[in-house]
Amino acid sequence: MHPLTVVTGGSRGIGAATVRQLAAAGHDVVFCYRRDAAAAADVLRDVHATGRRGIAVRADTTDPDQVARLFDAAADLGQPTGLVNNAGTTSRIGPFTELTVDDLRHVVDVNLVGYVLCAQQAARRFTTGGAIVNVSSAAATLGSPGEYVHYAAVKAATDTLTLGLAKELGPRGIRVNAVAPGIIDTEIHTVSGVPDRARRAAGRIPLGRAGQPAEVAAAIVWLLSPAAAYTTGAVLRVSGGL
Ligand code: NAP
Repeated sequence: MHPLTVVTGGSRGIGAATVRQLAAAGHDVVFCYRRDAAAAADVLRDVHATGRRGIAVRADTTDPDQVARLFDAAADLGQPTGLVNNAGTTSRIGPFTELTVDDLRHVVDVNLVGYVLCAQQAARRFTTGGAIVNVSSAAATLGSPGEYVHYAAVKAATDTLTLGLAKELGPRGIRVNAVAPGIIDTEIHTVSGVPDRARRAAGRIPLGRAGQPAEVAAAIVWLLSPAAAYTTGAVLRVSGGL
């Protein structure tokens, strides 16, 4: 019996590494992406190469109907027991005074509303227990001054969402945890206007380098596994000491 797990934002970065590692660990995986169908197809090919089942769904996590469609696709494969809330974004790095309301709303929409909509579908549909992992950020406790304080604040909300859901869903056998990555080498930094941020930040990271998506994925896969059966409500920092 293979576990069935839903991953949001699986076409690249931390999400793609997570989909690949979950499949290698024996999960069937249904993942969504928003734009890049070719990148999603590459990830799906790797899932199938492990012998596991997978589906890639174009779905925007900020839209409740599209989120329902994502979970319907999972239901076609069986009873899902895992969710990785990963699809996230930021906005251009800059002083707080220059933040636009459109950027603020977009960051709240993707990183908070999207996570809540997906967690709600999981809570309704995980009738046999399961596990949710929310991808937060070390920014939640660092505050990201001069960069994106609003993003840091929304990631702090992710940590509270994790804690509250762990307590509400624990009696139903659903564990809820978060990982808090530090600076990871992905394309999210292009959105922030500093594509080489991972390289530039190396000097202020205690371990001396940015992280790789696979290093975050490994923590997510562990939190979803039976080895983490007594772990819930935790925020696991994967930040090289940042
Ligand atoms: P990334 O490389 O930019 O990948 C983001 C993924 O999410 C892409 O597949 C993207 O697909 C998808 N996505 C974005 N908005 C979506 C939406 N509304 N609906 C569906 N899919 C959507 O980002 P990443 O660095 O891997 O980040 C993953 C998570 O880690 C995020 O929650 C981020 O906040 C968090 N994080 C990252 C870092 C870091 O340094 N990289 C640090 C701390 C936390 P499309 O482009 O097609 O939309």
